[in-house]
Amino acid sequence: MPTRGTPTRDGKVEEPDERRCRLCLEGEGDGPLLQLCACRGSAKLVHRHCLEKWRRTSPKEDAAYRCGQCKDHYRDALSLELLRARLQTERADGEGTVFTLNTLASELQAQGKYDEAEPLNREALEVRRETLGDRHPDTLASINNLGVLLKVKGKLAAAEPLYREALEVSRETLGDRHPDTLTFIANLGGLLMAKGDLAAAEPLCREALEGRRETLGNRHPHMFTSINNLGGLLLAKGDLAAAEPLLREAVEGLRATLGSGHPDTLASIGNLRRLLVRSGAGSTHTSIASCSRRSPSLISVMAALFACSAIVCMYVFCTSFDE
Ligand SMILES: [Zn+2]
Ligand SMILES: [Zn+2]
Repeated sequence: MPTRGTPTRDGKVEEPDERRCRLCLEGEGDGPLLQLCACRGSAKLVHRHCLEKWRRTSPKEDAAYRCGQCKDHYRDALSLELLRARLQTERADGEGTVFTLNTLASELQAQGKYDEAEPLNREALEVRRETLGDRHPDTLASINNLGVLLKVKGKLAAAEPLYREALEVSRETLGDRHPDTLTFIANLGGLLMAKGDLAAAEPLCREALEGRRETLGNRHPHMFTSINNLGGLLLAKGDLAAAEPLLREAVEGLRATLGSGHPDTLASIGNLRRLLVRSGAGSTHTSIASCSRRSPSLISVMAALFACSAIVCMYVFCTSFDE
């Protein structure tokens, strides 16, 4: 059998057969070929049973819950099953569990299982406080993760001291322009905004944006999410004239850097849509239609926003929030 893409005996170059499972290299005879992650090209198709076998048996640490190529998380029941089993094994063997605790908590949170995620986040934080101390960057990340989860659960008052602790210690130990500090500044700004304290939130949103412009340059997605946050805050304040150019810049920049379907892009489009609805501008319908065309439905915008806020991701969380 000729190899793919090489000339056959009669000199014709055979077309590469794209319809193959990337794991077993067989075609549809072995079952339907599915696209189960964000991979493109010849690597995109796989049999469900081949992928499941790979996830169950691979020595790679992350194979259980995400694609090793495109890093897309599967976000399914099997991820939880495999991570729960791993945690159980680590506990039984007396091994360090923090990494698995964090990974499982993050997966649970992304799948909306907040109540199951919370004790895992608390345990991870406790272990880090004990082993690394209260001022280690990893401890601050755990403080932030628990705070983010509590915020997602609507426990804003319980989240606030955690957000403040992470920020205060990060300013002291890492400095005001460190990426972690800027994340904590943005997160506290988002929390205060969620509480309705716009006056306290605004200087934090401005500081996060200024810091990111200085340290990340003008084309980094986190910079655009900070622009979105400040735009959202100004929108909440009713300053539509100041909010509009920011939200337009955020939508454009997020589309260009993260893609049209990314939750942060969709959240930003949601903010711009609300602004246009509130301003009742003549161009409203055109602008919304343009947004909606690229992002199929505004329901999916909200669903994606919800999913985004559920991700325990200290670098991205709260970079997009609802009004
Ligand atoms: Zn296969
Ligand atoms: Zn992939």
